[in-house]
Amino acid sequence: MTKSCTLCSTPRDILIRCQIDDTQKWHFVCPGSCWKSVSGGVEDAKGFEGKYPHYKYGGMWKDRSADGPISAKKPRKVKERQKEEMKKREEGKAESQEEGSVKEDSE
Ligand SMILES: [Zn+2]
Repeated sequence: MTKSCTLCSTPRDILIRCQIDDTQKWHFVCPGSCWKSVSGGVEDAKGFEGKYPHYKYGGMWKDRSADGPISAKKPRKVKERQKEEMKKREEGKAESQEEGSVKEDSE
């Protein structure tokens, strides 16, 4: 499920939750241009207190069904698996080479 940016109504998988005005209502804005327009592109609007006095960062909203966290874990798993396979291959290679040469000689 995507959520729409409260500023431009674009449905997104990731939005930044923040307060941007004196209503203290939590808005969900695009992490790109919309968020920059309300925060100056700084997470806590540090240095922009005068320009964005009502801005308050409330974290990131992520679509849970999107594969963000899963794809983040993938590379490590693949790396570990490759490492193991390589180890096996190295061990197996030594054995199979010996076996192979013995068989060839006997035939
Ligand atoms: Zn937007």
